[in-house]
Amino acid sequence: MNPVSAETNSTSETTNAHVAAGANAPLEKIALETYVPPAKPSLVGLSRAEIAEQLGAIGVAPAQRKMRVQQLWHWIYVRGAKSFEEMTSISKEMRAQLDQHLTVARPEVVAEQVSNDGTRKWLLRLPSGDSIEKAHEVECVYIPETDRGTLCVSSQVGCTLNCSFCHTGTQRLVRNLTAGEIVGQIMVARDRLNDWAGRVTPTGSRLVTNVVMMGMGEPLYNFEAVRDALLIVADNEGIGISRRRITLSTSGVVPNIIRTGDEIGVMLAISLHAVRDELRNELVPLNRKYPIAELLQACREYPGSSNARRITFEYVMLKGVNDSLDDAKLLVKMLKGIPAKINLIPFNPWPGTRYECSDWDQIEKFSEYIFNAGYSSPVRTPRGRDILAACGQLKSETEKLSVRERQALRAMAMTD
Ligand code: SAH
Ligand code: SF4
Repeated sequence: MNPVSAETNSTSETTNAHVAAGANAPLEKIALETYVPPAKPSLVGLSRAEIAEQLGAIGVAPAQRKMRVQQLWHWIYVRGAKSFEEMTSISKEMRAQLDQHLTVARPEVVAEQVSNDGTRKWLLRLPSGDSIEKAHEVECVYIPETDRGTLCVSSQVGCTLNCSFCHTGTQRLVRNLTAGEIVGQIMVARDRLNDWAGRVTPTGSRLVTNVVMMGMGEPLYNFEAVRDALLIVADNEGIGISRRRITLSTSGVVPNIIRTGDEIGVMLAISLHAVRDELRNELVPLNRKYPIAELLQACREYPGSSNARRITFEYVMLKGVNDSLDDAKLLVKMLKGIPAKINLIPFNPWPGTRYECSDWDQIEKFSEYIFNAGYSSPVRTPRGRDILAACGQLKSETEKLSVRERQALRAMAMTD
């Protein structure tokens, strides 16, 4: 169930003896965790065909299945029903039959925090097959703004990649989330915000309008589940968040970038962070497998990108490491010909890290250079000079979001 891709488990990487010391850190770690499905499967995250299969398995006649799937889809994804009992357009007998074998369960919310500005953070508990380690946990964050509400969603528990500046990468145990657990994060957010059709929201319109795959994990190392989940999120007869309002961030899993455009069709964000292979090998060790030139070529070929649908390049600002004006110049040069925007992300420190965030005036100089070169960048927003920061630090414990984390998530959520 839910296998981690073969690539994730590959350890036979060739390392260049001349690269900096940090680059010799392991490229990837092996995903260790297991997933134990619950006794009664949830319909959340299943495609229409898979729901029909489940109905077949519990004895629903073939002629009825299509209609039942349509009803269930509506109750689950438009009305947000949490039980079959609520699905009053389905006969009582059928509801009882469904309830006997299936659920519409989402991940369990173990903690919720609401900050003064309305930002909310949920800690979700997921089933694990490991009784020694504590239960799996992921976080999901909602950031409301005047014109949108963005949900930052996780794709894995932990991450198999070891980016040297990322806290999530230090988490030892990793497992892929199922499509249901990914869609489930959006369901949970809508439950907690009372954001389902027919319910009155404070703004009179939907609250979760945008989704960013920028929580824990590398979404393109869990491609099938992420794809299946996002297709459900974008489905017009259900949650219906447009593909233009969904952004997937990757550290650069090149073979799956084109697939993302072809099979999901969402907006793409690339965690670039360095303009030279030697440095990127150290910051994002996956670069040793897929170097910058290959990554940028995949971006050039990304299906559906255009000036109206730009690729976002994320660039974490690390003091004395990647923040010189030479870096900015090279960055502008190398993105030539790609419909791009750049998000500068002030580094978020965490205990034990060897990096520091760039000085503010250096971030300003850097951003000014790329702005003058014609790149749209969050510094241009009325919020002023606060070049927005990254989260990338989601940890499996509840904490208040710092101002920087909030700004990071806002920056990432920016769409044209
Ligand atoms: N694995 C995916 C998506 C999750 S990380 C990826 O790497 O793109 C979301 C973003 O946060 C990435 O751009 C990541 O590089 C960035 N990030 C990670 N750790 C960070 C930190 N400590 N400070 C600032 N940004 C960070
Ligand atoms: Fe994984 Fe992304 Fe963190 Fe790298 S930055 S370790 S890919 S979550």
